[in-house]
Amino acid sequence: MIGVEFHNSDDALEVYSEDASRWYKVKPKGVFFPKNTEEVLKVVRFCYQRGISLTPRGGGSGLTGGAVPSKDGFVISLEKMRNFRFEDGLVFSESGVISGQIERKINLLGYTLPAQPSSLNFSTIGGNVATNSAGLRSIKYGSIKDYVVETEVVLPTGELENFKEMDSAIFVGSEGILGIITRVVLKVVKKKKRFSYTIFVNSEKDIFEIFDTLKIFNPSAFEVLDDLASYVAFGIKRFSVIAEFEEDYKGIFEDVSKKVDLMVKGMGLQVLEIQDVWERRKRLGPALSKMKPFKINEDIVIPISSFVEYFDFVRDLRDKIDCIVFGHFGVGILHTNIMFGGGEQKTAFDVKEKIFDFVINSGGSITGEHGTGIDKLRFIEKELGEDSTDFILSLKKKMDPKNILNPGKIPLRSGGCIDTIPRFQKVLN
Ligand SMILES: Cc1cc2nc3c(=O)[nH]c(=O)nc-3n(C[C@H](O)[C@H](O)[C@H](O)COP(=O)(O)OP(=O)(O)OC[C@H]3O[C@@H](n4cnc5c(N)ncnc54)[C@H](O)[C@@H]3O)c2cc1C
Repeated sequence: MIGVEFHNSDDALEVYSEDASRWYKVKPKGVFFPKNTEEVLKVVRFCYQRGISLTPRGGGSGLTGGAVPSKDGFVISLEKMRNFRFEDGLVFSESGVISGQIERKINLLGYTLPAQPSSLNFSTIGGNVATNSAGLRSIKYGSIKDYVVETEVVLPTGELENFKEMDSAIFVGSEGILGIITRVVLKVVKKKKRFSYTIFVNSEKDIFEIFDTLKIFNPSAFEVLDDLASYVAFGIKRFSVIAEFEEDYKGIFEDVSKKVDLMVKGMGLQVLEIQDVWERRKRLGPALSKMKPFKINEDIVIPISSFVEYFDFVRDLRDKIDCIVFGHFGVGILHTNIMFGGGEQKTAFDVKEKIFDFVINSGGSITGEHGTGIDKLRFIEKELGEDSTDFILSLKKKMDPKNILNPGKIPLRSGGCIDTIPRFQKVLN
C-alpha cells in the first residue's frame, strides 16, 4: 500500500491493538512499517488527505494505552527505523532503535545516556522522547528532555521539520499527538564508576534521615522500596533504600562508607552489598505481575512533604486490596502497584481513583514518567485545571487541524519527572 510495508492480517491487528498496560484494546484497520523518514511522510500525507487517524508506535511498552489506536484508524510502527551512530559525543538515531542497543554501544566507549527507563531493552528511543521517560537516575540526571539536542518531526499535515533544543521541547512528552518523531540527536554523559548500598530501615521515616546524611555525596540513584517490595526483591520484609553514588571526586566511596557505618550504629540499620541489586530492582515490576492475575502500575508523584502520610494511606488500602510501593525518592515518583484477581476489578479501580485523589489533593502529579495515554484522561483536568487543558487542545487544533494524529489523547504538559528536590530541601531545613 502506497509503497510502504503494510499489514492487516488478524495476527498483526491483534498485536498492534494494545500496549504493555493490557487494559485498553482497539484493533487498527492496518499497520504501516516505514523504513525511513520518506516513507513516514508518505503515510502521513496519505492519512492527512483522507482524514484517517494514525497512531505512532515505538516498542509498545507504554503503560497507559498511549499507542493504542483509535477505532477505524491506522498504526504507524517506527520499529523498522533502526539506524544510529555515535559521533562527537552525540547520538544520532532514528526513532525505532531500541534504547538498550544505544546504551550498550556507548557504554563500550565510556559514555551513558542516563535518563533511560527500566524498559530500555524493549522500548524505543523515539517512544522514550515521546513520553519524556525518566528512570532510576533521574535524581541526578533528570529526564530525557534534558538530553534532546535536536528532533526531526513529520507534522500531522505532512511536512518535515527539524527542531533545535528549545523548539524540540513541545514534542518531548507529547505522546504522538503533535508529530511523529523520526530522528533524534541526544547528548550523553561520561560513565562513572558506581557503588551502591542497600539499606534496610525500620520505617519510612528513617529514609529522610538517611537522605539528609548522604545527599552531600550527590547520589545518582536513591530508590525506596516498601516492606512488601523489599520482600519480593531481597527476601527481607523491611522498608529499604538503594543508594547509588558515582566517583565524582577522589575518596567519595570511602567517605560514603564512613557515614553509612556511623548511621548503622546510630539507627540500628541493616546494610547489604548486593551484587545484582539493580537487576533485582528492574525485575521487581515484572515479578509483581506474576503474583496475581492483574496489576495496575501507577507512576504518581508525591510531594515529599506528604511522603510519610502516603505510606500510611497505602497501609490502610491494603485492607481492601494488595498494594505495593517502590520508586524514585528524590524526584517523588512512587510506583504504586495494585495487584488483584478476578472479581476484584471494581475494588482495584476504586482504589486507583482514591490514590489519584490523594495525589491531586496533596499537590502531586498523576504521572511522573509513563505519560497519560488513555488511562489518565479522566483525571487530567482535575490536576491541571481547565485553562491548561484548553491550552494543550488549542495547540493540537493548530498543529493538527484534521485531528488525525493519535486523537483523543491529552498529554500532561508537565509530564516526565517533576523536580521535587527544592521542595524536599525546604522540608528538611
Ligand atoms: C517493565 C516496564 C518498565 C518500565 N519502566 C519505565 C521507567 O523506568 N521509566 C519510564 O519513563 N517508563 C517506563 N516504562 C514505560 C514505557 O516503557 C515508557 O513510557 C517508554 O518510553 C515507551 O517507549 P515505547 O517505544 O515502548 O513507546 P510506545 O509504548 O510504543 O508509545 C508510547 C507513546 O509514545 C508515542 N510514540 C511512540 N513513538 C513515537 C514517535 N516516534 N513519535 C511520536 N510519538 C511516538 C505513542 O503514540 C504513545 O503515545 C516501563 C514499562 C514497562 C513495561
